[in-house]
Amino acid sequence: MQVILALASEFAPMKITAIETILLRVPYSAGGSKDAHAWGGAAWSTADALLVKVTTDAGLVGWGEAFGYNAIPATRVAIDQIIAPLCIGRDPLGIEALMQECQQKLHIFGRGGPLIFGLSGVDIALWDIAGKAAGQPLHVLLGGCRTPRLPCYASLIRYTDPAVVAANVERALAQGFVHVKLHEIEVAPIRAAREAAGDEVGIMLDVNCPWSVREALDMAARLEEFNLRWLEEPVWPPENAQGLADVRALGGIPVAAGENCATLHDFQHLFEAQAVDFVQPSPTKMGGVSELRKVFALAAAQNVTVMPHSFYDGPGLLAAIHLNAALGRGSLVEWRFFDLEAPLFGEMGIPRDGSIAVPQGPGLGADPDPAVIARYRAG
Ligand SMILES: [Mg+2]
Repeated sequence: MQVILALASEFAPMKITAIETILLRVPYSAGGSKDAHAWGGAAWSTADALLVKVTTDAGLVGWGEAFGYNAIPATRVAIDQIIAPLCIGRDPLGIEALMQECQQKLHIFGRGGPLIFGLSGVDIALWDIAGKAAGQPLHVLLGGCRTPRLPCYASLIRYTDPAVVAANVERALAQGFVHVKLHEIEVAPIRAAREAAGDEVGIMLDVNCPWSVREALDMAARLEEFNLRWLEEPVWPPENAQGLADVRALGGIPVAAGENCATLHDFQHLFEAQAVDFVQPSPTKMGGVSELRKVFALAAAQNVTVMPHSFYDGPGLLAAIHLNAALGRGSLVEWRFFDLEAPLFGEMGIPRDGSIAVPQGPGLGADPDPAVIARYRAG
C-alpha cells in the first residue's frame, strides 16, 4: 500500500498554485523625444511591463509577460480575476490543453485585447516552467537551436524631427546594428534616416496604421527611392487584409503586418489575402509560445518570413528569441531601442554588435532580476 501511495505521489501532476501579476515602471531614455502617442494616446514617461509569475506546488516558478503599455490595467484584471481562477489547480505541463480550454471558455468575451494578452502572459510562463521541469532551454523544447546568436534590428521610437532621427540611426549603427526600423510617418525623417545610414543598411518603416489604401499607395510611391526592407501596417484598420494586399501588390515595397492579430485565424486571413511578405506575431499579444509556434508553420506553407514583434524587454522578448532560434528562417529579433534605467535580465537579452545571444539556461533562460522588480514595482 505504501509503495502504491509513493508511486501515486511520484506521478501525480504538478499543480499551479498561484498566478501573480507585477507591474514594472522603468524610466528610460530613447535618444531624444519620447513621442509614443501613436501607441495608446498618451506619451510614455516610463517603459511599463506587466510580468506574470506562475507558481507551482513543485517549487518551480515560471515568468511570462502580457501586453502591455496603456492597456496594462485591463490586462491585469483579465489575468487576476478571469484567467487565474481557470488555471489554479491545473497541471502547468498540460499547456496546450489548458490554453485551448481557456480560449474556448472565454471566447464570448472577445477574441483579442486584454483577455488574449493575459492568456499570452500565462502561456509564456507555463513554457518557462516546462523548460525548467525538463532542465532544457525553451528552444530545445521547440525543436532545437539553429544558431547561438540571432541578428537583431534596432526598433526606434517615433522622433518626427529629421535631425533627431538621423542622430539615432547613427547611434544604432555605432552600436553595431545593420538593420534599423523607423516609426516615422513623414517623408523628411525617412529621407534623413537613409542619408545617415547609407545604402547598405536595412531600413524598415513601421507607420502604425495611419492611411487609407489610396493614401498608402501615394506614400509608397514617395518612399520607393529609400529602398525600404518593408512597410509595416500601412493601412487603417489593421484587420484590413485586402487593403494590405492591395498596397503589397501595387505599392512596390514589401509589406509587413501581424502584431495586431490575436488568433491563428487572424493570421490565416492575412495569408489567404496574400497580404504580407513578413508576418509579425507578438508573443505577448496573440496567445504566447503555444500559438506563435503555429504561425511559423502556417507561414512556412506560404513562404512568408516570420518577424516576431517584440517591442518590449521582459519575458516576452526572451520567448521571441527562443522561437526565432528554433523555428525562424531569416527572422530578425526586434530590439526596442530604449536605454532602460535597469535591464530586467542583466546582460542577457541585450544585443551586442547587432546580434543577441540565445539564452541557454532552462526555460526562458533567466528569471527577472529580483532587485529590479523590488525597485521598479508599481503595483
Ligand atoms: Mg509595429
